Amino acid sequence: MNATLTKPPPAMPNTAGFNPVQKEYLSGILAGLAARQTAPFVGLSGGLYTSEPGGGANLAEEKDEPSFHGTPVSELCRQEVWKYTEHGLDGWERLVAHAKEGKMPDDEHTFRFRFFGLFNVSPVQQSLMLRCRIPAGELTAVQLRGLAEMTDQFADGTSAITTRSNIQLRQIQPRDALDVLMRLSSLGLTSRGSGVDNVRNITASPTAGIDPQELLDTRPFAHALHHLILNSRDLFDLPRKFNVSFEGGGIIDTVADTNDIGFMAVSVPAECQGVKLQDGSAVTVPRGVYFRVELAGITGHRQLASDCGLLVRPEDSVALTAAMLRVFSEHGDRTDRKKARLKYLIDKWGTEKFLAETQAKLAFPLVIAGVEHCAPRPAAVKHAHLGLRVQRQPEMNWLGVVVPVGLLTSAQMRAIATLAERHGSGTLRLTPWQNLIIPDVPDAEVTALQKGIEAAGLHWRSSQVMGGLVACTGSRGCKYAAADTKGDAIRTGQWLEERLQLDQPVNIHFTGCPHSCAQHYVGDLGLQAVKVDRDGVSVDGYHIVAGGGTGTESGIARPVRNGVAAAEVPQVLEEILRKWQQVRLPNESFCAFTRRHTTEELLNLFAS
Ligand code: SF4
Repeated sequence: MNATLTKPPPAMPNTAGFNPVQKEYLSGILAGLAARQTAPFVGLSGGLYTSEPGGGANLAEEKDEPSFHGTPVSELCRQEVWKYTEHGLDGWERLVAHAKEGKMPDDEHTFRFRFFGLFNVSPVQQSLMLRCRIPAGELTAVQLRGLAEMTDQFADGTSAITTRSNIQLRQIQPRDALDVLMRLSSLGLTSRGSGVDNVRNITASPTAGIDPQELLDTRPFAHALHHLILNSRDLFDLPRKFNVSFEGGGIIDTVADTNDIGFMAVSVPAECQGVKLQDGSAVTVPRGVYFRVELAGITGHRQLASDCGLLVRPEDSVALTAAMLRVFSEHGDRTDRKKARLKYLIDKWGTEKFLAETQAKLAFPLVIAGVEHCAPRPAAVKHAHLGLRVQRQPEMNWLGVVVPVGLLTSAQMRAIATLAERHGSGTLRLTPWQNLIIPDVPDAEVTALQKGIEAAGLHWRSSQVMGGLVACTGSRGCKYAAADTKGDAIRTGQWLEERLQLDQPVNIHFTGCPHSCAQHYVGDLGLQAVKVDRDGVSVDGYHIVAGGGTGTESGIARPVRNGVAAAEVPQVLEEILRKWQQVRLPNESFCAFTRRHTTEELLNLFAS
């Protein structure tokens, strides 16, 4: 493929969603391209946009109208037009210019700067938000201390742990954008590709390598994929965001089934003969540990990932992911952002065709094997991310620290970093439950560490409500939010802890809008913010769903109450949980209780 192919002048794309200024800007770019009579990707290695390895832009097929990843330019949505005119990673100098002027980005630059992990969060906060990449949630104490210094110098003195085991800093001024990125780099961290149409932070079991029940240490695969992505330009040009998780069979649920690709470690206890390959021939699969592959989780669209039938050697998982990403990149929808996730490609094609296209990009055969060949996966333990647990290494422990809705002050970050160095191995793990773990604590150091955590204003004891409380950013920092999710979550958690003595853990997820960043459909109780009418006044409120779960409790929650004002939420959740305790079977979990009732029965049971 010759990346300097002469191309016909680009047609004017669909500009229905553009304002006059944007239209003028776009027509200027296209006129410039036409005058140069060169492809907009001049300078790119040809291989990056061919089927070796990336595939996509169909330049050779262009006759009458240019296309981008197989879609005629006139049909691209506006974000794809921006990517067509300039690759997301080519925006560095735009970033430099904005920082020099201290200028907030417009719509297009807001989109472009997300390729570098910087988010314009106006009008809620007239500032930028930095989203890091923390592969497998692994941080060193030095890095955490460095992030604390960054938030004091450039942000608002706090950090937020996210549901992708990641860290975000807020209230960054545009003039500091470059300094922030360079400081992050000096810590050995990056934010590249943490937003927009990229593979997001790669998650892995938070206790990988130290968990007594795990089948496989998943960290090497998470890190290998992280670096593959960072070094593959074409993988920064997907139709939409993409999530990948590696679950090792440990005690903590990694919520892998909420991802586009969830790798689930399994044991194949005996040699299996006559196992099918993707092309229909048969092989013998030796006993050992493999990944099963779940595809197309997208909980905001009420879909968990499901097993696609593949049994993969762990060492093949990264190459498989790259192949799947490239199939998605070449064939995913580039015209409608709402239909641009992997789910919609698989809905259109079916799993079989998706796997056949994936196979065509791989040098090793894909093995299709039923779950009957695999031993049952070890079950995760709810809220095992908190409290003291024994490691697989003798006389070693990890301590899970409660970080309510993921918020840490810079002082707490420094304190945790010092405690991890003093009593552990100087490393930390972030969990997808918005909490953190200090690993490698010798028996003799446990008490001192626990006291140190309490002195930092945090605690470590597992609690049935606070341990499973998850909240997205909400109206404090996100323009889409209909309520202050973090504030409402903390108020509700405290209310419930003061009034209820639960004998089983429950997960409660507060999400601010249908984007569902806090994955409310997989909570025992899930709340999605909406505005509700109270005596003619619009106030913050929530729709409430119940009975969701992940892992062994996998399922999508169902509606039980609509339009509850935020101020009423604590009492309403108290009523729901009391009802469960009153009428459940002995020791029945909230999840099991909801699963044996129809939606109508739940609506009646939990009605006001
Ligand atoms: Fe913002 Fe909505 Fe995501 Fe919450 S769920 S952080 S409100 S986009």
